[in-house]
Amino acid sequence: MEQVPAPPAVTPSIRDVRLLPKAHLHLHFTGSMRPSTLLELADRHGVHLPEALSSGEPPKLRATDERGWFRFQRLYDMARSVLRDEEDIRRLVLEAAEDERADGSGWLEIQVDPTSYAPRLGGLIPALELILGTVQDASKATGVGMRVLVAANRMKHPLDARTLARLAVRYRDQGVVGFGLSNDERRGMARDFDRAFAIAREGGLLAAPHGGELAGPSSVRDCVDDLGAGRVGHGVRAAEDPRLMQRLADRQITCEVCPASNVALGVYEKPEDVPLRALFEAGVPLALGADDPLLFGSRLAEQYRSAREVHGFSDAELAELARQSVRGSCAPKEEKERLLAGIDSWLVS
Ligand SMILES: [Zn+2]
Repeated sequence: MEQVPAPPAVTPSIRDVRLLPKAHLHLHFTGSMRPSTLLELADRHGVHLPEALSSGEPPKLRATDERGWFRFQRLYDMARSVLRDEEDIRRLVLEAAEDERADGSGWLEIQVDPTSYAPRLGGLIPALELILGTVQDASKATGVGMRVLVAANRMKHPLDARTLARLAVRYRDQGVVGFGLSNDERRGMARDFDRAFAIAREGGLLAAPHGGELAGPSSVRDCVDDLGAGRVGHGVRAAEDPRLMQRLADRQITCEVCPASNVALGVYEKPEDVPLRALFEAGVPLALGADDPLLFGSRLAEQYRSAREVHGFSDAELAELARQSVRGSCAPKEEKERLLAGIDSWLVS
């Protein structure tokens, strides 16, 4: 009897998420550092790093209580302490841009509180000017469009935030596109910072405060109602309130969801608990972000891979996520069109 040859194995075409053009809207300055660079700079400057930062493995974190959050902030501060001079800043920004390019990011909005770097870099204004200059150079060198969000610290006085907002507005034409608010959202009220955000918005900047990460949907509502958020850092816990999701969808307020960060900090127990699907289905515009890859162990493309592998996003849905990241960005129109066209090409490749 003649044997029927077995049909050729069909391998489903899996498109490479690193080749999918996208925008990265949630990345912190120090948190973008390569682990190897942290070790080298610490060595160069004689900074003793704790085991949690020197082991080569992402530290074990948990921020669902104040002590855990405090530990995370302490590690972050230690990592920041290796950035001492212009050369260090230049290296950090260039490597961040190179890593973005490798992950398919065509547009990066990096978030920084220049206050933290001011003491070593000659003051607030020189620090911001240095950062903006290096961002421009790194963008030219890599082809990744880059802009800066100046972020105030929620643990500091609202008057400090106002000073930063004024400074951010002054540098609007030199690369600052937005104003943020970071650190523990369980502390104080968002509306304590309403004047700072009014200054930023009136000065033409996007309001993009953190909210809905450590605290629930009410924190996202506060960001929108009290701070005029056009985008929300995280915002992931809006998923607990269908009416809020509807509002974010209606007003097209993008949530910068950072799945790996959420799991690393214990906001969700497991990757599958991140309510990516619920937010997406509700029509909330999303921009996946890495937050602090130095501490959480994964960069941008990895977030898209987790959407595919953990949440079952098809390639068409991944392309839609990428489109949402581009639409939610502050990129100029022609840059957005170029990236959107690239996303369409990825999908038909
Ligand atoms: Zn963040």
